[in-house]
Amino acid sequence: MLAVWSGRHAGHDPQHEVQFGERIPIYEVPARAEAIRAALEADGGFSLVGPRDHGTGPIEAVHDPAMLRYLEEAWRDWEALGRGGELVPHTVLHPGLREGMGPAAEPSTPAGRIGFWCFETMTPIVAGTYEAVRAAADVGLTAADAVLGGERAAYALCRPPGHHAARAVFGGYCFLNNAAIAAEHLVRETGEPVAVLDVDYHHGNGTQQLFWERGDVLYVSLHGDTRRAYPYFTGSPEETGAGRGRGATMNVPLPEGCSDDRYLDLLDRALEAVAGFPGETLVVSLGLDTLAEDPITDLALTLDVYPEIGRRVGALGRRTVVVQEGGYHLPSLGEGVVGFLRGVGGG
Ligand SMILES: [Zn+2]
Repeated sequence: MLAVWSGRHAGHDPQHEVQFGERIPIYEVPARAEAIRAALEADGGFSLVGPRDHGTGPIEAVHDPAMLRYLEEAWRDWEALGRGGELVPHTVLHPGLREGMGPAAEPSTPAGRIGFWCFETMTPIVAGTYEAVRAAADVGLTAADAVLGGERAAYALCRPPGHHAARAVFGGYCFLNNAAIAAEHLVRETGEPVAVLDVDYHHGNGTQQLFWERGDVLYVSLHGDTRRAYPYFTGSPEETGAGRGRGATMNVPLPEGCSDDRYLDLLDRALEAVAGFPGETLVVSLGLDTLAEDPITDLALTLDVYPEIGRRVGALGRRTVVVQEGGYHLPSLGEGVVGFLRGVGGG
């Protein structure tokens, strides 16, 4: 199977995230991508290639161009103030701040801008962030091109991840929504509907937001029930899309301690929805943070289940782009990804 990756992810290397007022070592580290790459190489069943530069067009087809401009300028403007370290918001634009007064304009200062575009405190910007996020988007697009070119499946080793990034806001370790950018590219290139299946532990609020009113992109997510799990404000089963997208969003919340068997039962429900949706192309947002050992999950999946999840996804018979999202237990990450991909590929 073709696997696309870029070494430029390594420039995005913040050391900390802020959780509930505490500054802790960040979980989303460069070693994640290196662990996956090492496992792909060791397996021998994957050809690793670099991404092709797609420019800003496919990104701006999904995200607010002003947010992309901000990401490009953020670190430079912060450094120009004589600041360094890691850029994290200390004031975030909560909708209640301007209730009844109309929308806020984007501030001009770095302190104001970061809180205008970012929704939380776990997604720091550093010197190499912009280059890394642009590379990650190209990695996803290049994998999408591979299936457009006839590959049955391709893997995009994206880092940083993307599914928490919405049209005009970023956070949750995510800056640009790599899977959504790839899905939109596939819709435009094929003229056909595309399904997105999200199996990261967390609800992909960004992907859901981006395709909420779209009837030509199905979004199906299995995730830790957001009544207890991040990102808290989206992901309930009552959310099914609106307008032309009514019925094209499906959320399957997972119980705490969810076992392999229970997960596979719920996965089958999600796959039924994909199978009933028109089109021949599937994008998978693959997160390995469903594994019991993962430091930020409360499910109980074992490493043995990932090949079976992959096999059931592959059995849909759709051409498939697998985009890497989360997964933070470094010792298992590579094995889990390879197991999933071998399942998808029927190997
Ligand atoms: Zn996640």
